[in-house]
Amino acid sequence: MNLVLLGAPGAGKGTQAQKLVAEFGFVHISTGDLLRSAVSAHTELGSQAESYMKAGKLVPDELVIGLVKERLSHDDVEKGFLLDGFPRNCEQAQVLDAELATLGKTLDGALYVNVSKDLIVKRLSSRRTCRACAYTAPAGCDVCPACGGQMYQRDDDKPETIQKRLETYETQTAPLVDYYKAQSKLKEVDGAADPNEVFARVKKLLSL
Ligand code: ADP
Ligand code: ZN
Repeated sequence: MNLVLLGAPGAGKGTQAQKLVAEFGFVHISTGDLLRSAVSAHTELGSQAESYMKAGKLVPDELVIGLVKERLSHDDVEKGFLLDGFPRNCEQAQVLDAELATLGKTLDGALYVNVSKDLIVKRLSSRRTCRACAYTAPAGCDVCPACGGQMYQRDDDKPETIQKRLETYETQTAPLVDYYKAQSKLKEVDGAADPNEVFARVKKLLSL
């Protein structure tokens, strides 16, 4: 099964992705994680992407699209993939449809994790991320529960940038909900409950 994950930053897409990977072996393709790795590895792509990310803006399509096409060409995506953070605007969604057609693959659904704006701001300001494995958890512990790595606050989880990222989401990414609705692929879940409860609903929704 091949899925796209939709939802505002902090909606819990990454958490649900981690659970789907652990239980069903999906390949998780997070453009945010791929870009952050490129930034810490000081690659050419990373240095081009960094300033956009720090400002809470989208990285230009030509940079991100190349990254995703490359990742989708690996054999492991046969197991089924979860695209997390991509597409993030209508152009990217169209490119994805075209690329999947070229690869002879189809998208089985777009899982939309819906959370109110108030809750999003609360969650993002207290979010900590593992430097080693990208696991996320609320502030409070310094050690990653998944791998023992160091938890830190992402630059773009600071209050100034959160506001900008939410605006970017509203104007550019939220319209994709209608894009996938029109294709009859939208599967919506309420993301306000605790992660295990949300996961139970996700499995039902996807008949997993
Ligand atoms: P979020 O928690 O906002 O969902 P991500 O980890 O998915 O954050 O992405 C972090 C940043 O990386 C974004 O704010 C953006 O600058 C950049 N980014 C990630 N995916 C894309 C994409 N598909 N297109 C453009 N920029 C992207
Ligand atoms: Zn970790």
